[in-house]
Amino acid sequence: MAYDHQNIFAKILRGDIPCIKLYEDEHTLSFMDIMPQADGHALVIPKEGAETLLELSDEAAAACARTTKKVAAAVKKALGAPGIVVFQLNGPAAGQTVPHYHVHVLPSSLGALGQGHASRMEDPAKLQAIAEKIKAAF
Ligand code: 5GP
Repeated sequence: MAYDHQNIFAKILRGDIPCIKLYEDEHTLSFMDIMPQADGHALVIPKEGAETLLELSDEAAAACARTTKKVAAAVKKALGAPGIVVFQLNGPAAGQTVPHYHVHVLPSSLGALGQGHASRMEDPAKLQAIAEKIKAAF
């Protein structure tokens, strides 16, 4: 399917809608998930428009892996997380809800992730406070 330039992450990349930013470089952006499954749930996205891993260029995939590693380290340090879950869904059948490639980074464990995917909006002030801690840990 053709990449949808109106998807919510494309809008975040264009600055059309805001996000709570954690990290940005030439190829990637990381920000807080607005409906976290755990405190400190972060997302990493490429600046390239690709819906899933299968459309992503090798260069963008490598850039996302590098940024994911940085963000995971900062989240772990900032929040004292004993474990970090990294996951990534491809296609609606797999549960992907936003059609722009993204990696989830969560300070949690698979067993503790009881709350459903993208189910509850978090208080923006709480997200901002957690983001400040993570940013200070890069
Ligand atoms: P997916 O289900 O596609 O793997 O994950 C999409 C993620 O994006 C979900 O965890 C959801 O909470 C998050 N999300 C959806 N809309 C927004 C938004 O407008 N801003 C932010 N920061 N996260 C969003």
